[in-house]
Amino acid sequence: MTNTAEQSATMHAPVTGKKTGVTVAYGDGIGPEIMTATMKVLKAAGARIDFEEIEIGEKVYLSGNTSGIGQEAWDSLRKTRVFLKAPITTPQGGGYKSLNVTTRKVLGLYANVRPCVSYHPYIQTKHPIMDVVIVRENEEDLYAGIEHQQTDEVVQCLKLISRPGTEKIIRYAFEYARAYGRKKVTCFSKDNIMKMTDGLFHKTFDTIGQEYPEIEKEHYIVDIGAARLAETPEIFDVIVMPNLYGDILSDVAAQITGSVGLAGSANIGEGFAMFEAIHGSAPDLAGKNKANPSGLLLAAVQMLVHIGQADVAERIHNAWLRTIEEGVHTGDIYKQSVSESLVGTQEFADAVIERLGTAPQKFQAVDYSNGTATFNIKITPTVPAVKELIGVDVFLHHNDRDPNALAAMLTDLNESGLKLSMITNRGTKVWPDGFPETFCTDHWRCRFTNESKKGISYQVVVDLLQKIHLKRLDIIKTENLCLFDGKPGYTAAQGQ
Ligand code: NAD
Repeated sequence: MTNTAEQSATMHAPVTGKKTGVTVAYGDGIGPEIMTATMKVLKAAGARIDFEEIEIGEKVYLSGNTSGIGQEAWDSLRKTRVFLKAPITTPQGGGYKSLNVTTRKVLGLYANVRPCVSYHPYIQTKHPIMDVVIVRENEEDLYAGIEHQQTDEVVQCLKLISRPGTEKIIRYAFEYARAYGRKKVTCFSKDNIMKMTDGLFHKTFDTIGQEYPEIEKEHYIVDIGAARLAETPEIFDVIVMPNLYGDILSDVAAQITGSVGLAGSANIGEGFAMFEAIHGSAPDLAGKNKANPSGLLLAAVQMLVHIGQADVAERIHNAWLRTIEEGVHTGDIYKQSVSESLVGTQEFADAVIERLGTAPQKFQAVDYSNGTATFNIKITPTVPAVKELIGVDVFLHHNDRDPNALAAMLTDLNESGLKLSMITNRGTKVWPDGFPETFCTDHWRCRFTNESKKGISYQVVVDLLQKIHLKRLDIIKTENLCLFDGKPGYTAAQGQ
């Protein structure tokens, strides 16, 4: 720290202007330590905030609340609509629902924005040039939490992708890129395999992207995209992806900048916003004053921009950059070759406070003078298609592993033209003309279709199910096969 005049000016930063209500949770594990550090910096920097503290997480779970959050906490969130949250621990064992997923979904926080930046040469990283923002869809995909055990051998998790949900996140990514002067938006999906769900995500990206001609667009299958992100992150700018890929790859992206402890994240919805570090409660570091508070502090910076306190956000972010370039580092980023001093969580916060009001000398200073970028995300209204029922997939729990024997029990059924056309096992066609080598479990999908492709009433399906039931076969579930404006709303089987 060199400029004491700047320092003293900042230490006495006036608290002026209207205060904004923010709900704050100290969380579990390292949560209380990194939140204490963050709050110290926020207060010293003159953040104009009225904090309302709530209790969430492990204690609440263990008191018998399976979602880890009580009514009083919801009331506070509904009032302030802004949440600064430390990581929490989800207790092991059945019955506990992820508080993070619940909060994001209940409050409609559809966009998870995770900037991952390299601070070379002051933080050691294999990737000196990296400035990637991951925009992760936050409400859908496999995180719907709809899981079932269907047979002795097979469990299922439903992957749900909606057109409006996808449109919202894709538009958000493009609006973000436009507002922050970013040049390119990349989409990651796995639509070579999941043709309908990830296919919808990719197709929506292509369609909406046309409305942003000044922004470069590209798509990667997520596997090669992930490999490139890990090897050459400098080729990416903004990356938008469905929930699960975004969850995994934003940790990868943060880790390769030097530490998972460096990245903050904003969860944005129409009426609410939640800010948190991307990492978890790190029980291995809890109570040791060793955790890096930077992820939560940078999330708090995102929050300040969001609530219109860009001046305070800038003051903290610049002081933080100065602290990092002066080599004041916590254990996760400390390297003798680049660091000056090894500090604990609270000492790191004190070092940032000392530098409030100063600008970084080596890094470019941040400038939030444009303030909050609020995006008007419009959703194209759904035009209902002409929907025609033309068949049904009937899923059976059946222990005999011979598909031909199962087919023999079903081929005599002909319900108003609805006939057995195919059997699959875990998605692979095993009848007719299956391969004897295909491994079969006790979980079968029997596809009944109307060869004329003429629409049928649901009563026909009910009558068919009645006949299958009378054959003492164990029906797990059914999925209707429909045409939407004449196009099949279902995929063919692997091997079909
Ligand atoms: P984690 O992110 O807590 O820890 C992974 C590794 O990173 C550990 O080695 C840890 O020491 C290190 N690390 C994490 N944050 C750090 C920091 N600020 N400074 C230095 N090192 C840091 O992930 P985990 O161990 O898989 O999960 C622990 C608990 O956190 C679990 O109960 C999990 O459910 C929970 N979790 C919570 C959130 C959240 O609240 N948003 C997110 C992820 C995990």
